[in-house]
Amino acid sequence: MTKTPRIAVLGAGYTGLTIANLLARRTAADVTLVNDRPDFVERMRNHQVAAGRTVRRRPLRDLVSGTGVRLVVDRVTRLDPAARHVELAGAAEPLGYDLLVYALGSHADLDAVPGAAEHACAVAGVEQAQRLRDRLRTAGTVAVVGAGPTGLETAAELAETHPGHTVRLISGGTLGRELTEPGRDHLRRVLDRLGVQVWENTAVAKVDAGGVLLEDGRHLSAEAVAWTAGFTVPALAGQAGLAVDEHGRMLVDATLRSASHPEVYGIGDAAAARTRDGHVLRMGCGPGSLAGACAFHAITARMAGRDPQPLRVKDDTLCIGLGAWDGILQSTGLDGVPHGKPLTGRPVALIKRAVLRVTGRYNPRHPGIGVIAARQG
Ligand SMILES: Cc1cc2nc3c(=O)[nH]c(=O)nc-3n(C[C@H](O)[C@H](O)[C@H](O)COP(=O)(O)OP(=O)(O)OC[C@H]3O[C@@H](n4cnc5c(N)ncnc54)[C@H](O)[C@@H]3O)c2cc1C
Repeated sequence: MTKTPRIAVLGAGYTGLTIANLLARRTAADVTLVNDRPDFVERMRNHQVAAGRTVRRRPLRDLVSGTGVRLVVDRVTRLDPAARHVELAGAAEPLGYDLLVYALGSHADLDAVPGAAEHACAVAGVEQAQRLRDRLRTAGTVAVVGAGPTGLETAAELAETHPGHTVRLISGGTLGRELTEPGRDHLRRVLDRLGVQVWENTAVAKVDAGGVLLEDGRHLSAEAVAWTAGFTVPALAGQAGLAVDEHGRMLVDATLRSASHPEVYGIGDAAAARTRDGHVLRMGCGPGSLAGACAFHAITARMAGRDPQPLRVKDDTLCIGLGAWDGILQSTGLDGVPHGKPLTGRPVALIKRAVLRVTGRYNPRHPGIGVIAARQG
């Protein structure tokens, strides 16, 4: 009799939860999902949490019930690929596996400048987003550091929900670099309408209790600082000797399999997924979901003795929500270069709501959409 394969999925974010549910439902493997918190965090709503909007609590045990997934709420402290097991903070015995899916996501890089870890709140983490929300009850001025999509969404959301506050957005480069000109124009109009003060081509040198010190020596006062400038990944893969890139993201092939350890797959922000033509996917729920679906197909194909299909992604799309009623939908190449006229305004706000509903509400429980999308490439 052949042994039932044991699959361990580390991380129950957007990608890990989805692939665990798929593998448990559609293969005969024993699937264990490990996460360091009992609830599913919809990170894409963290800026809404910071603005004081209520985001419903979603216990992971409800999201995996009936699927066959064994849920372990614990923190992974070490991987041992030679022994094929992972160590957990709260368990005396390590968790063994035949196949590992590494989906530990990313977090804010608060070591980027002095004082950020102490004084800033990173929107990347839900507890920090809640801390920012609490600070905004008394703070009248908030500085949002970083003007990538997360920074733009945060600044717009805070300005819209707190019209009496002063919101300052600090962009290291030109505002809206990821957009074509019509998109940049729209972005400026929206931020202007919301009263967001923008500092462009401005680097932050330090965060302190009274605001941010800029590299040119100026000090911008702020009673709260929202940090959105840069994400980093857990160091566990690199520490365990798995091949990682210069940012610590796991190096994987076009089927999402580790470049150094064939029994390990890496998906989501924690892995640097590469398409056949060599483009590395950006960190993001959209690209991560496609990578997760491709990994699912690759794992099941190999289990069945078939050759897996490589990741097929031709393009990328940014869907940036700007408050409840506005937004920008911009096509980009996989190199991040934007092209074409973006869609803007209310239709994008509605699309964004649908995306949030699918990724946060529907897909964790019924993970079929990403799978179809990955097949079509
Ligand atoms: C405000 C905001 C808005 C965003 N908007 C968009 C958007 O519009 N479009 C888009 O594509 N992307 C967006 N993103 C990015 C998106 O949220 C991430 O790319 C996505 O969450 C990555 O999914 P993941 O499954 O790789 O990791 P995550 O969703 O981060 O999940 C990782 C999981 O692993 C757990 N974990 C971590 N370390 C350990 C450990 N040692 N042991 C056990 N468990 C652990 C974490 O608790 C978490 O549950 C946004 C992010 C933010 C913060």
